[in-house]
Amino acid sequence: MSRFRLSALALALLVSAAHAEPPAAGKPATETTRERNQAWLQRLPFDDRADFDDARRGLIEPFTGVIENADGKPVWNRMAYNFLDGNAPASVNPSLWRIAQLNNIAGLFEVRERVYQVRGMDLSNMTIIEGDSGLIIIDPLISTETARAGLELYYKHRPRKPVVALIYSHSHVDHFGGVRGVIDEADVKAGKVAVIAPEGFYEHAVSENVLAGPAMMRRAQYMYGALLPRGERGQVDSGLGKGTPTNATVTLIAPTQLIAEPLESHVVDGVKIEFQLTPGTEAPAEMNMYFPQFKTLCMAENATHTQHNVLTLRGALVRDAKIWAHYLDDALVRYGDEAEVLFAQHHWPTWGGGKIRDYLADQRDMYAFLDSQTLRLINQGLTPTEIAAKLESLPPRLANKWYSRDYYGSLSHNVRAVYQRYMGFYDGNPANLDPLPPEDAGRRYVAAMGGADAVLKTARQAFADGDYRWAAQLLNHLVFAEPDNAAARELQADTLEQLGYQSENATWRNVYLSGAHELRQGVAEARARNGAPDMVRALTPSMFFDYLAVRIDAMKAAQEDLRINWRFTDLGEEYALTLRNGVLTHRKGSRHAEADVDLSMTKALLDRIALKETGFLKEATVGDIEIEGGRLKLLKLLGGLDEANPQFNLVTP
Ligand SMILES: [Zn+2]
Repeated sequence: MSRFRLSALALALLVSAAHAEPPAAGKPATETTRERNQAWLQRLPFDDRADFDDARRGLIEPFTGVIENADGKPVWNRMAYNFLDGNAPASVNPSLWRIAQLNNIAGLFEVRERVYQVRGMDLSNMTIIEGDSGLIIIDPLISTETARAGLELYYKHRPRKPVVALIYSHSHVDHFGGVRGVIDEADVKAGKVAVIAPEGFYEHAVSENVLAGPAMMRRAQYMYGALLPRGERGQVDSGLGKGTPTNATVTLIAPTQLIAEPLESHVVDGVKIEFQLTPGTEAPAEMNMYFPQFKTLCMAENATHTQHNVLTLRGALVRDAKIWAHYLDDALVRYGDEAEVLFAQHHWPTWGGGKIRDYLADQRDMYAFLDSQTLRLINQGLTPTEIAAKLESLPPRLANKWYSRDYYGSLSHNVRAVYQRYMGFYDGNPANLDPLPPEDAGRRYVAAMGGADAVLKTARQAFADGDYRWAAQLLNHLVFAEPDNAAARELQADTLEQLGYQSENATWRNVYLSGAHELRQGVAEARARNGAPDMVRALTPSMFFDYLAVRIDAMKAAQEDLRINWRFTDLGEEYALTLRNGVLTHRKGSRHAEADVDLSMTKALLDRIALKETGFLKEATVGDIEIEGGRLKLLKLLGGLDEANPQFNLVTP
């Protein structure tokens, strides 16, 4: 019963794949790309170097090395980015090059007395606050390896005091995955370490990556450029930081204290903290923190030095730009007149009351702009691509601020996300209501344009003219009509590559270059991944059954009728599952009066099966799973579960 497992549980951010062959360096920038990238130098205030001063301010020791895991495999290699020196090469947008350099300033920093940050040792920051007797850590990075290395770097320069509290600012893995690298669960259980999180944290920490997990992981490979070489024709940055660790250990310890009120004040080891809950902003469970003794404001991931994502390119439920703006304004009102330094859990801090107030007001306006201006144009009758074309830029004063640039989110995809939030997939034009799928459409477009050679000729001309967006659209029809057409694939790869070289946005560059890479070299084989044990254990039975339902092919199971009473002896919980019309539904705290199968086991055993430490059939045989009734029907259901495709095609059919 090896198919009975949760392949989605490796996290969306931690993506690995085996390379058939090492990734080749990309082609040079064309003359058109070079000129367009050059033009950016006049468009933005590159003489303003204040961010570089802030990013270096308080540097105690730079980090320049490689962090390895227990097997000696590299987890984090800062050396891979040593090429980020001097002026932007022709193959990188100068604005992206600038933030790629800023994100490369790594090490241990003093933000102010008693407040330290580890930056550039993972995608995110770890903040260390010195309490009266020990340390308060905000966000322990993605992996135990990077978090441990970060804390050791701190201890090299500061007294080795114990960690007495750990705060998760929000429910994304780059803010909790390294927790076991800095605290011990036994100390948490013994009451020596408090683990504080916003309400809903634990559930959201796992649920976002479950149901659509495999697809999000695949798309995250593109978004973070995980398969690309590092270099000026490869991956240079991820917008929020350099990238994500590889070969890493992801962990999760449940919080012991939840912040549930909109505002709560607590004293943690002598440090006053005012928690401001911001649900539904950058994450479903998130909170800002103000430290009145230090006049220091932590904005979690709600205000960073980029326009953030209303919808991430890896895919997620769309976020609410309006609520986001609201909570930024709330923080401005509450703390804007007091705060002397503001930091977030990505990028570098901002010092000075005036700068902080401008920063919060500008960030508020940016998210409010996305919401209100998209809606304004929706009500004028514009559709998503038209809105993206119309709203080419933020208002000039805002557009000129480096922290509103498109490094992680982008104006173009965020306005389409706002459209999606309010209006959904249908743009209102009946011609788009029932479109042909890409392969069918591709074949017909190619025929209508006079065949493959004619399409290639037109596309070559478009490429030569620097009309790359058009070339990409044209060639996409040909590649989907004729996936084995080597000339079409190559030209499409060249086209996407130039689009990537021109992108200001790190994630856009990464997806373009990843597409080019796979058109040339094919899709790498998936490496077997194991779910992170902490994440599997955090799954509730309901989440587990929901994911089981996602793996049933309804048409194959359409004639099956099955009622299961499923009891977890260690939780004392009962579930009534119903398979009917090919869909599996469940009720918590319920039993079928007449079930086909009565099943009894521990949740702990289910976790072990999900982690592939044992098999369902084996446990059913030895009796650790008690099954009464329609055993065969149950095994047929579990044996027929659909496997997600971890390396599905994106740029080809
Ligand atoms: Zn983050």
